[in-house]
Amino acid sequence: MDFDEFREFGHASIEFIINYLSGIRERDVLPSVAPYSVINQLPKEIPEKPEHWREVLKDLEHIILPGLTHWQSPYFNAFFPSSSSAGSIVGELLIAGIGVLGFSWICSPACTELEVVVMDWLAKFLKLPEHFQHASDGPGGGVIQGSASEAVLVAVLAAREQAVLSCKETHPELSESEVRGKLIAYSSDQSNSCIEKAGVLAAMPIKLLAADEDLILRGDTLRKAIEEDVAAGLIPVICIATLGTTGTCAYDDIESLADVCQALKVWLHVDAAYAGGGFALEECAELRRGLDRVDSLNFNLHKFMLVNFDCSAMWLRDANKVVDSFNVDRIYLKHKHEGQSQIPDFRHWQIPLGRRFRALKVWITFRTLGAEGLRNHVRKHIALAQQFESFVRNDSRFEMVAPQALGLVCFRPRGDNENTTQLLQRLMERKKIYMVKAEHAGRQFLRFAVCGMDAKPSDIEFAWTEIESQLTAHLAEKSLAEVARKPSNVSDLTQHFQMHLANGGGGTHEKSQ
Ligand code: PLP
Repeated sequence: MDFDEFREFGHASIEFIINYLSGIRERDVLPSVAPYSVINQLPKEIPEKPEHWREVLKDLEHIILPGLTHWQSPYFNAFFPSSSSAGSIVGELLIAGIGVLGFSWICSPACTELEVVVMDWLAKFLKLPEHFQHASDGPGGGVIQGSASEAVLVAVLAAREQAVLSCKETHPELSESEVRGKLIAYSSDQSNSCIEKAGVLAAMPIKLLAADEDLILRGDTLRKAIEEDVAAGLIPVICIATLGTTGTCAYDDIESLADVCQALKVWLHVDAAYAGGGFALEECAELRRGLDRVDSLNFNLHKFMLVNFDCSAMWLRDANKVVDSFNVDRIYLKHKHEGQSQIPDFRHWQIPLGRRFRALKVWITFRTLGAEGLRNHVRKHIALAQQFESFVRNDSRFEMVAPQALGLVCFRPRGDNENTTQLLQRLMERKKIYMVKAEHAGRQFLRFAVCGMDAKPSDIEFAWTEIESQLTAHLAEKSLAEVARKPSNVSDLTQHFQMHLANGGGGTHEKSQ
């Protein structure tokens, strides 16, 4: 493909993206395809001869798009947002176009230095403690990882190696394998699956401690678990706390956890994959309490900072603890500026050797939106979640399960879990909006997460109308089924319909629109 053709292809692709995104509300958010439908439409081998890019775009439109779940749709209300923006999309294109790798400073000095700059910008924007900045006097700094899972794994591995080193000093009588066999880590039973997975990958058990009735992990619980384990001869290594759990966006009590971790010399990592976006707002300042005492934390820009996947920020109080743990050298990786303060070789801060120029899309996103635009985005998601919450609270057939937190509302139709299951099943079959269920203490509930590149109040109204009308339909069907099963005489029937109406099944519930 020569450059003229490349230009045509590129322009057509940008048009394609704009048409896709601007028309996203017209598509069902969930696809209507059966398993293998995409596989069966595609050839079994690479085409022998080059094909024209127009043919490829045509197949993208007709074969691939119908098989997609539309994550950028405002009707995607599952999980947490996977954010994006025009600046970030173009940034991703430019990253690919420039095509550099930045595992050491000399590989592309600007790639490393831009990352140092944007990570310090972000640390200031989120009002993180100063020692997390590269520009601070200490050994702290930030790095961009691919995902929260990688950030957590890096923290777990580094904490493990630090614990082994210090234990070898304090217990010279133990062999290294004896030490490694005694290591143990902690998190809450509400933490993301990636925490448990990090334990599996690091070959170190992670105990999932019971969160309290508000789904918060507190210092007392951690202290008790650590004391029991130490008494049993184990060596506590790290506690991974969460600010913004995946289930309900609950915030662990970082201050009380930090009390325990500092006293018992345990690494404290905070997974703020989603809720880190709230650090930027003065009205959410509470969220930042205790962060000055943690060893490391992560926040996904691809969740709440309008940077497209993948882009996960990680900060370390003492980066040397990671660098020393992961430093494996070869002569071909050496360069004369190695080890200079303020100039990291980021290969030592991560799992892979190669690394993408992700800082470029972050820089472009931040510059094209400004700090004000980023703050407005987080505030908008909070306001839309509050709008949704008011719909839930004004319809007596529903109940809230946890307080609305940032852009997440956890709610359920009153009654048994079957109502929640049936409602979700109806919504999934209709494909107009996409939510997922969660469960706590035997109660199933629905999570409504504000998502999409440009969600609006009218999108929240659309989602609510869909949800409440499907509950009406479900309750009516349930009543009819009960009547068909049970009634033995006319008075039973009358009584049954009276109960149905009293429960709001006849559409008499209040609504605030
Ligand atoms: N931590 C929390 C609290 C999450 O909600 C998620 C994903 O939603 C993750 C970690 C995993 O994120 P990633 O896909 O970036 O690894």
